[in-house]
Amino acid sequence: MPAVSPENGTMPDTCTFCRILRDEPDDVTWVEREDEAVAFRPLPESELAPGHTLVVPRAHSIGLLDADPRALQATTALAQRVGRAMRAALGATGVVVLSASGADAGQSVPHLHLHVVPCWDDDGVTFWPEGRSKHRVDGDPHELLAEMFE
Ligand SMILES: [Zn+2]
Repeated sequence: MPAVSPENGTMPDTCTFCRILRDEPDDVTWVEREDEAVAFRPLPESELAPGHTLVVPRAHSIGLLDADPRALQATTALAQRVGRAMRAALGATGVVVLSASGADAGQSVPHLHLHVVPCWDDDGVTFWPEGRSKHRVDGDPHELLAEMFE
């Protein structure tokens, strides 16, 4: 059963990526379609680089935090194969994998997806954030995190 988040009320029937997975519209450029995950071209206006590809699990989840571990595994494994294909077919010398979970993280489509972006030495852009969060946490954040695993 697909996960539904009470946080934003997104249902698979209204989910953009679930609709694409269900209807397989003709205007989608597929890179790969597997049993548990697929890879396709984002909208051209949102492409960060030639060959930028979205890797999406077929099972609906909002993002990393509520994804089924098996779907997550299939998605990351496909992202690895897409990255290797970028190296082999496009001559990419590196890849960046971007994924946001939650509106405050900048997630635009509330269905888990990984952006796999090929990089070259002459692409003139860096995808690593230059800014730093101004948010403050009471206590040592890594100690607080480690306590969750005890
Ligand atoms: Zn969905």
